[in-house]
Amino acid sequence: MNNNQFSLQNIFISSFFCILVGTILFINSQSILWSSASVTIFIAGIILMIIGLILKISITMDTKKIDKWVPDSNYLPDAGRAMYRIDTTLTSPTKTSILCGKCKHIEWVEGKKPTSYTCTNCGILLWENNEEE
Ligand SMILES: [Zn+2]
Repeated sequence: MNNNQFSLQNIFISSFFCILVGTILFINSQSILWSSASVTIFIAGIILMIIGLILKISITMDTKKIDKWVPDSNYLPDAGRAMYRIDTTLTSPTKTSILCGKCKHIEWVEGKKPTSYTCTNCGILLWENNEEE
């Protein structure tokens, strides 16, 4: 559970609590003072819930954006030799995109950067056993 989900959960718990307390107070209120106080708590709960929902939607959209992200195939200049670009996702499942600088082909592999890689499109060896991590 990350921080975003944790604070979201707190917002939803608070909003449910406010709505619950507001409702109970309203049902049991004997005076105009208590009913207006309970309505205020109830409305605060609704506002908290709306805030929570907006946050949830924006977090979900952020995650989708990261998932759909692919490297820009125009990133690498043609330097006359085999260039490549590797990007590993930070969210699970871990996937690595390999951009072949020669033919601009993007290949996705499971897990982190493999020890050696040959472009599946043009057959050029991009690297072999370098940069041990
Ligand atoms: Zn290639």
